[in-house]
Amino acid sequence: MINLKDKKILVTGGSRGIGKEIVNFLLKAGAEVMFTYHSNYDKANETLKLFKKAGFKCFMSKSDVSDLESNQQLFKEVQEKLGGLDILINNAGITKDNLLLRMTLDQFDSVVKTNLRGVWMTCKVFLKMLLRSSNGKIINIASVSGIMGNAGQSNYSSAKAGVIGLTKSIAREYASKGLKVNAVAPGFTVTDMTERLNENQIQLALKSIPLGKMGSTEDIAGAVLFLASDLSNYITGQTIVVDGGMVMPI
Ligand code: NDP
Repeated sequence: MINLKDKKILVTGGSRGIGKEIVNFLLKAGAEVMFTYHSNYDKANETLKLFKKAGFKCFMSKSDVSDLESNQQLFKEVQEKLGGLDILINNAGITKDNLLLRMTLDQFDSVVKTNLRGVWMTCKVFLKMLLRSSNGKIINIASVSGIMGNAGQSNYSSAKAGVIGLTKSIAREYASKGLKVNAVAPGFTVTDMTERLNENQIQLALKSIPLGKMGSTEDIAGAVLFLASDLSNYITGQTIVVDGGMVMPI
C-alpha cells in the first residue's frame, strides 16, 4: 500500500543503526535515497554496496550535519544525483552521557551542536528545495529523552526537546506552503548507540517499558515510513513516540 516511487529522499546518518533501517524501508517502497555518514567510511560503503547489490537507486555522501559548508556541499550533491528533494529525514545524532556535575562544556556543546543545531541547519539549507516539491516533508528523529528527560543526558535531552520544538515551529511556518514537518521519538532501540549501556542500565530501562523489551530499528523505520507516505498527508507538527509504552502522556 505504501508506494514511494519517484520520491527523492535524503537521510542523514543513514550508514548504520536506525538510519540504515530507514533507508532500507524507503528503498523497498520505491524511493530514490541519498544517505550521509560522518566518519566511518568503511561502514557506510558496506551499507551502500548492500543496497546497490539489491538493485536500489541509492547514493551516499560524507557530511557533517552541524557544519554549514558541509551542508551546502551536500545540497549540490543532492541536486546533482537526485535532481531535487521531496523528503528530508534528520536522523544523525550522537550521545556523550555524563551526570551534570561531571559533564564538560565540550560534552554539552558537541551534542547540542550535532543533535539540535545540525537539524536546524539541514532544514534551513534544504528548505527551498523541499518547498519546490509537490508534497514536501521533513521528519526529525527526536527521542523520549527529549520528552521525559533522562539522568546522565542533560545535553542530549535538551537537544532532543529542542528538536521537538523546532519541528512544531517549522511546521507552523510552512504549513501554508504544503510542507509537513513531524518527528519520531524512539525509546530504547537496539543499535551501536545503546550497546554502550551496561547491564544495570538495560535492566532499569526494561522495567520502565510496558511492552517489556527494547525496540528494534524496524519498529522506528515503520513509523518513519508512515510519515513519509501519503497516508500521513494531514499530519504536521506531531511527534510519534515509538517506545513500547514507556512515555504515556496524560
Ligand atoms: P548510531 O550511533 O547507530 O548511528 C549514528 C549515525 O549518525 C551514523 O550514521 C553516523 O555516521 C551519523 N553521524 C554521527 N554524527 C554525525 C554528524 N555530525 N553528521 C552526519 N552524520 C553523523 O545511532 P542510532 O541509529 O542509535 O540513532 C539514530 C538517531 O536516533 C539519533 O538521532 C539518535 O539520537 C536517535 N535515537 C536513538 C535511540 C536509540 O536507542 N538507539 C533512542 C532515541 C533516539 P558515522 O558512523 O560515520 O559516524
